[in-house]
Amino acid sequence: MTVERTVRLAIPVPLHQAFDYAVPDTLDMPHPGARVRANFANRHLVAVCLEQNPQVTHPSLKPIQEVLDVVPCLTAELMSLAAWLSAYYHHPIGEVINTILPSAAARGASLTFKHEPLWATTTQTDESERLKGAPKQQALHTYLREQGPADMATLREAGFTRAQLNPLVQKHLIQESGPTRTELEAPLTLNAEQSSALQQLDPARLGYRTTLLEGITGSGKTEIYLQMIASVVERGRQALILVPEIALTPQTVQRFERRFGGTGVMHSNLSDAARLKTWLQCRNGDIQILIGTRSAVFTPFADLGLIVVDEEHDSSFKQHDGLRYSARDVAAKRAQELDIPLILGSATPALETLNNAMTGRYQHLRLTRRAGGAAIPTWHLIDVRGHMLDQGISPPLAKVISHHLDEGNQVLIFLNRRGYAPSYLCTHCKWRAACSECDAALTYHHNPRRLICHHCGLRAGVPEVCAECGGHALLAVGLGTQRTEEGLRARYPDIALFRVDRDTMRTQKRLEAQLDAINQGTRAILVGTQMLAKGHHFPNVTLVAVLNADNGFLSTDFRAPERTAQIITQVAGRSGREAKAGEVYIQTMQPDNPILTSLIEHGYPGFAARELDVRKGAGFPPFQPMALIRAESAQASKATAFLKHLASQVPKPLLALGPAPAPIARLGGLHRVQLMIMADNRSLLHRGLNVLHDLKAERDVRWSIDVDPYDTF
Ligand code: ADP
Ligand code: ZN
Ligand code: ZN
Repeated sequence: MTVERTVRLAIPVPLHQAFDYAVPDTLDMPHPGARVRANFANRHLVAVCLEQNPQVTHPSLKPIQEVLDVVPCLTAELMSLAAWLSAYYHHPIGEVINTILPSAAARGASLTFKHEPLWATTTQTDESERLKGAPKQQALHTYLREQGPADMATLREAGFTRAQLNPLVQKHLIQESGPTRTELEAPLTLNAEQSSALQQLDPARLGYRTTLLEGITGSGKTEIYLQMIASVVERGRQALILVPEIALTPQTVQRFERRFGGTGVMHSNLSDAARLKTWLQCRNGDIQILIGTRSAVFTPFADLGLIVVDEEHDSSFKQHDGLRYSARDVAAKRAQELDIPLILGSATPALETLNNAMTGRYQHLRLTRRAGGAAIPTWHLIDVRGHMLDQGISPPLAKVISHHLDEGNQVLIFLNRRGYAPSYLCTHCKWRAACSECDAALTYHHNPRRLICHHCGLRAGVPEVCAECGGHALLAVGLGTQRTEEGLRARYPDIALFRVDRDTMRTQKRLEAQLDAINQGTRAILVGTQMLAKGHHFPNVTLVAVLNADNGFLSTDFRAPERTAQIITQVAGRSGREAKAGEVYIQTMQPDNPILTSLIEHGYPGFAARELDVRKGAGFPPFQPMALIRAESAQASKATAFLKHLASQVPKPLLALGPAPAPIARLGGLHRVQLMIMADNRSLLHRGLNVLHDLKAERDVRWSIDVDPYDTF
């Protein structure tokens, strides 16, 4: 008689539990971290082994069907990270593991991939004469010399065979290509501030420490990352660099490539197969430097030695659905567990991060000067009350714009609203075009002429008569980037104009082409949304104008002031980045708004100090941890009733505020209600949330827990 062998599995279903199965004698015992196939509710699912031979209470277990990995797919480190994620974000372990696996692996794809060498010529010399007797070899050599490195599959497609390749390898005319060290760019000589920061980061120090590198835009933070990474790579270890959006800042990856040669890249535009391959190469140690967006924080490494989170304040590091994790916070957890350094870099650190630095949990380093010697731009407020605005531009701003253009420079006009106008309304009866699926106005767009909902994507034709009173007095009201562009074109017909927002930059190729055109040209106007603010280096921009700072003051979200200050500071940082000094002009109807005055008088650190006091007074994060519980349903009353019930289950020392409608109370046809949970400390918060896991809502109510919510929309 055989002793029954069992495994505990994480199965990708929304239940807060693991499931025990039997391992039939015909199968090898799966190791923790290995994928298996198991039948669950009549579906064949890919599951991951959590534990061998757990204490099983159930007398007879269903057998697993297949073991997919001999070598576990997930390393022990990632398995323990998954357990932490599940506990911290109160998300089912099976779904956590499903999120951290590359999707191809989650579907059961094989993890063996062949190492496909790239072949390249050893020199750029023309060997036609020497290879005269072997025309096929001669053609292959010429092909590689002209086209650059290629793998065997590509060569076969081009009509070559291995029989032609091998003799060329023997003659040392062709070799496996690696990073060509000779063409790499040398490190820059650090300025005094940078040297001192690097010294305190201490590349020779190996253990865990988080450092906030707070450096103004253009102060040379990236150069410091590069030099830290260089010393990690020299030691034979790996480095992970998390960035907000690779597509928006191709310059960043290019800079890493110039310094180190081949780097791995991981972002959402990769095919599933490419993503899995990069994931495995990092796990095997074949890739030394990985640059990636949010989910790259879940990549396994053979020997990770450093994590860098660039623009650590950026909202894209927080996932807004499913496993609602913060890649920055997960990076901190991984760095701690792996006992390696973590660098968080930003010109506008998140208040959480600043607070950790101020209380001594993080090392705090500052760069206060621009690295290349460029001056810090001067800031000016324009009080637009009492001015006649022409397509959003006040007369004083028009003068400044003309002046910068006359000097042959570039001007960047920032407006965080795409489309032509944020509302379309009847001047007679005040009817306003609204989305049928959301509690939100429709935005009026030109070319093509449409009303579009920026929340759910709904598109509608533009009515010619008012839906309410039948009148014809319909008007597009307010200012979007299309209207600003139109106004500027009329005003400066001879000047090159680039509009950069999600509507004009639908593809990465187009964005790259536009960025190149901007950086090669001279006199030009750039109009755009925050797409223009992020990380770009525009050498010729000397004026940044924020058309309407007040947009950001309207939101009731507790993080709105922080986000507004960050975006204004970031966009201002595009001004005067090289030899020519820059200026920043901000149009506002609230020149006394403390967000603006603190920013102008004391910079972002001044703003942040003030805002931290406000948060402390209100008992908001980072001083008290928070979780947001959201419920959605086609019927508002059901969502509310569920959250009322849930609120009554929240254990005592926790504070439950609500339920209340979300700021956008209906989205995509669903009513959204939320409950804010506050606690004096994290362990109380987690203990309280644990009680709620197994609450069952009615079938048409969906609900979720968001720990450390980024916004309350
Ligand atoms: P940040 O990451 O803080 O925005 P970067 O590292 O991108 O700053 O540096 C801004 C600009 O200054 C870049 O063009 C960079 O090449 C240049 N730079 C950085 N460090 C130095 C240095 N030590 N000497 C000269 N130029 C530098
Ligand atoms: Zn009307
Ligand atoms: Zn909508």
